[in-house]
Parts: sequence; structure tokens; C-alpha cells
Amino acid sequence: GSDTDTLLATDQLTKKFGGLTAVDSVDFSVTEGEIRCLIGPNGAGKSTLLELITGQLSPTEGDIYFDGTDLTGLDTHERIDTGLSVKFQSPHVYENLSVTENLRVPLQRTDRDTERVLAETLERTALSGDADTQASELSHGEKQRLEIGMALTLDPKLMLLDEPVAGMSIDETDDVAALIRSLHDDGMTFLVVEHDMEFVRRISEQVTVLNQGSILRQGPIEEIESDEEVRRIYLGE
Ligand code: ADP
Ligand code: MG
Repeated sequence: GSDTDTLLATDQLTKKFGGLTAVDSVDFSVTEGEIRCLIGPNGAGKSTLLELITGQLSPTEGDIYFDGTDLTGLDTHERIDTGLSVKFQSPHVYENLSVTENLRVPLQRTDRDTERVLAETLERTALSGDADTQASELSHGEKQRLEIGMALTLDPKLMLLDEPVAGMSIDETDDVAALIRSLHDDGMTFLVVEHDMEFVRRISEQVTVLNQGSILRQGPIEEIESDEEVRRIYLGE
């Protein structure tokens, strides 16, 4: 595709922690409308890369562009205002609030039609039946869906998900895969950091493999899965 299809791009992005280079001159991009999965062994630099994108960490060198904007110098909230949304690994919901009240929290930051967006988000996340349930009563999978819903209320252009099915049952994993796929069908772009290859296979066509801070391989899931070096470093074969 042309440059106009690129939603997120990193240019020679580098993060050093003392003598350790966690992210090493990474040129990485996410195309509008795709579900891009980022995989790699423990310590590969996946979380560091994600935190550089969200602005929780500052790069040692390099730049990040999102939807035509240079993100350098913007804090996390300012990045969210540009249409970048993040869902971290463990649910960050307000346990003492109901599902609907949780959804109202991010919505307060917008001028969107609250009642319409609430109804639409409950529907999309399959939480309509739990609208008045206190978040502390939800299962782990429902909490994850609620948090994806909270991100959705901001109408993001890109959703970053860090291991969205970690610790989930098979049924909960199915629900999250179905949610991601249906949002993708509606045009949402995703960057998903994921360990579970079975899940990656179900949601993603294009995969990037990170190893020791650098991109080792990029390509279609079938190619990545059958690549000998990937199998050796990632799957331990
Ligand atoms: P992954 O998410 O792929 O498992 P990380 O991004 O968490 O990898 O870590 C990449 C490397 O950077 C690891 O060697 C890790 O120990 C190191 N690292 C991550 N965060 C810090 C930090 N805050 N201080 C020092 N080293 C760190
Ligand atoms: Mg990590």
C-alpha cells in the first residue's frame, strides 16, 4: 500500500536501559484496517515497544508517527486524544462501579452522544445483560471485554492490546477473539501483543516477530509458524 495506508510507524526506534538495548533501531508499521500481532519470546522488547508507543516510556532515539502526527513530546493522554487507545494486560476497571458507570468514565472526556454510545458499546461487547452489574462481580473475561468497551467509547483509530487473553478460559478467549474480529470487520485497526499462537492464528493475518529488540521476521501467520528460526527462538523447538 501507499504511505497513506500507514496508521502507525516507528523510525529507528531505540530504547536503552543502561547497557541493555531493549528496543534496537526498530522500523515497524501498522497499516490501517489490519490486525497486526506482535510476538516474540520473553524479554524480546514487546512491552517496551508498546510503552514507547503509548508514551509511558521515552525513546533513547527514534520517532513514532501516528495518523500523520509525530508523537514525540506528547504524553499518554495527549496520545489517546489523537486516537490511540490502549488496553493493558490486567484489567483496569473500577471494581465498585457498574458496567455502565465504568463506560461513562472515559465518555466524560468526549463530546459524544453518551446514551447512544453507551447502548452501542454494551451491545458490541455483549455486556447489555450486565449493564447494571458491579464490575467486581464480572468474570475475568467480562472485565477484559468491559475494558475494551471503555477504550471503544473514545472511538479510537487504533487499539493496542497487550496479551488480551492471558489467563482466560477457552470460552472467554473465544469471546474476545469474536469481539476483535467483529470490530475489525467494522474497520478497527489493532496492534496485539500476544503469546498464545492459537489465538494469533485466529485473529491475525500478518505477524511481526521481535527478538532481542529487533524485528526477526514479518509476514503471514503460516509463513511465520513454519519458519525454522522462529520455531527455534519462539516455540523452543
Ligand atoms: P517482553 O515484553 O518482550 O517480554 P520487555 O520489553 O519487557 O520484553 O523487556 C525487554 C528487555 O528490557 C528485557 O531484557 C527486560 O529485562 C528489559 N527491561 C524492560 N523494562 C526495563 C526497565 N524498566 N529497566 C531495565 N530493564 C528493563
Ligand atoms: Mg512483556
